[in-house]
Amino acid sequence: MTDIQSIILENEKYAENFTGGKLPPHPSKKIAVLTCMDARISINDILGLKVGEAHIIRNAGGIVTDDVLRSLIVSHELLGTERIIIINHTECGMATFKDEDLQKRISEKYKSNASDIKFHSFGDIDENVKNQIKKIRSSPFLSNISSVHGFIYDIRSGKIREVQ
Ligand SMILES: [Zn+2]
Repeated sequence: MTDIQSIILENEKYAENFTGGKLPPHPSKKIAVLTCMDARISINDILGLKVGEAHIIRNAGGIVTDDVLRSLIVSHELLGTERIIIINHTECGMATFKDEDLQKRISEKYKSNASDIKFHSFGDIDENVKNQIKKIRSSPFLSNISSVHGFIYDIRSGKIREVQ
């Protein structure tokens, strides 16, 4: 069986006992979480969040890009979220390269200019979290958000710690 066939089969099993069809679209805990796409992060489990309780936004690194701001504005303005949590993690792949290096690598490999692709690689993880909080705090469209918290998830221990 291929991975795709396996996924389809798993969904059939999931749908047999599915009970979440009546959930409202507004996250009941009024929380939006931004985190990395890392396959080792099961964010609902890590934070004890159940389906329907929070918006989860993910990308490489857990970075506040323009598209994340777009999602957060929709989340806050149309769906009532009031708190934002940013979670970066130890051993993040985004801290293992520099934008210029990947731009150069794929420009050469695919014979197409990649110098304008911003990957948002970073060095210091605490600094990176603080920078993401700043980006949210500087958006006029998110100025009514009541709290923005930043955490680092430890891949080895499963624990989160808050970035002060
Ligand atoms: Zn990561």
